[in-house]
Amino acid sequence: MPPAKKPAKAKVKLPQPQLLRGFKDILPGDQPAWTWIRRLVDDLAVSYGFQRLDTPLVEMESLFVRSIGETSDIVEKEMFSFTDRGGDRVALRPETTASFARAYTEHGFINQPQPVKLYYFGPQFRYDRPQAGRFRQFYQFGYEIFGDPDPINDAQLIMMAYSLLNVELKLPVSVQVNSIGDKESRSRYLKVLTGYYRTRKNALCETCKERLTKNPLRLLDCKEKAKDCQELASQAPQTVDHLSDASRQHFVRLLEYLDELQIGYELNPRLVRGLDYYSNTVFEIWPARSPSAGEAGGPADEPEASQSALVGGGRYDGLVEMIGGRPTPAVGFAGGVERIVAQLYKHQVAIPPVAHYDVFLCQLGEQGRKKSLRLFEDMRRAGIRVAENLSKDSIKAQLEVANRLKCKYSIILGQKEIMDETILIRDMENGIQEVMDYNKAIVEVKKRIERMHTNHIVPPVVTPASTAPTETPAPPPDEPAVKS
Ligand code: AMP
Repeated sequence: MPPAKKPAKAKVKLPQPQLLRGFKDILPGDQPAWTWIRRLVDDLAVSYGFQRLDTPLVEMESLFVRSIGETSDIVEKEMFSFTDRGGDRVALRPETTASFARAYTEHGFINQPQPVKLYYFGPQFRYDRPQAGRFRQFYQFGYEIFGDPDPINDAQLIMMAYSLLNVELKLPVSVQVNSIGDKESRSRYLKVLTGYYRTRKNALCETCKERLTKNPLRLLDCKEKAKDCQELASQAPQTVDHLSDASRQHFVRLLEYLDELQIGYELNPRLVRGLDYYSNTVFEIWPARSPSAGEAGGPADEPEASQSALVGGGRYDGLVEMIGGRPTPAVGFAGGVERIVAQLYKHQVAIPPVAHYDVFLCQLGEQGRKKSLRLFEDMRRAGIRVAENLSKDSIKAQLEVANRLKCKYSIILGQKEIMDETILIRDMENGIQEVMDYNKAIVEVKKRIERMHTNHIVPPVVTPASTAPTETPAPPPDEPAVKS
């Protein structure tokens, strides 16, 4: 009797792994925008004398709790915190300023000539409710100045953010500025503010009722539309009317510097920022409202614009001390890359390509393909921006790629050229082809490209991936070998 068959195991179909909610891939089509922003952030750092500092993505949870504040949205609801295998409470960084303050003390930056100017570019994590412009992993760049209380630093940082967004990236923006004062002004102001709200408590939304006891400053930036919070906030006593002499002086000087820089700004009494560590200057840069929404150059849409702030920052003179360091004045800002990229697409800003190629190397037949391998390496090492598609057989298809990449020249290496020890160089604009000695090819091609660049033929510009038109390349010839 044959052995009894084992009963077949029922196959359990596991769900296919997918992106987590609030997370996203940055696809190649979006990389030109990202690369551009990254490059501008680096360039700006060099111009203004900032050094790059990279801190870990994971830190002790207490770093953020102590600095950002237990009653902030970030600490209360949004931290990716967990106990690691060693039993320590850790968190994925929800922002980088606190990490910089830790690093400033830990690495003795305080002993260096002040101010110390540092910058970063990297991912942050907040377990926020995903929506347009709000992700759970998002990228920020930021510039921080430690060790100098002068408002000229605040002004220069606002200038940097404005320059990046408006001058370099050509985005219409609105600069929002306020002062929440120093400790002394704040304790005075909070008494007045809570007094104002206590008599109007019944009109507040549930969150604001809680804020009244936990974090009254946040009452001013409530986004709840259904209740009277907005109306009450707009009528509330303003921080700027309760500033200490020192804080008022700081703010007045900042505004004078902004005037000197000719940066148009709006004084926004409701701008408080959500974190505990801010003092005196706070600022944000919002997308400007579109002309159709009212007078061009007028105030940005509220509250939509405030919820899509591109940049936010301010002074945090108490932060280093809060986390155990020596008292150190400091000021900085962070910009959100995803939101800036979205604005570039919305305004159809011309984005420079990640790379441009001057020459495309076409090959024909097995011999041509083989020799192209070597020629490509030699050209690349000679500093020629050369592209190839060695896996394609058809010359027509290769010339199409050359057209798509907007190469000025194509070099063609086929059976005949190999036998004659020549190459064909084709001008992609007019289709004229010349035969050239193989051994002189690199020197000659380099010469032509240098000539082209000194004639200021600027590299092409690509439109955003999502809106890029499909190219119709010039029809390539059926027969490549046209002798001059
Ligand atoms: P903040 O650290 O909250 O002051 O934010 C600074 C900037 O980071 C904001 O102006 C946004 O551009 C960006 N940002 C903050 N939170 C998010 C988020 N959840 N998703 C995408 N970008 C964000």
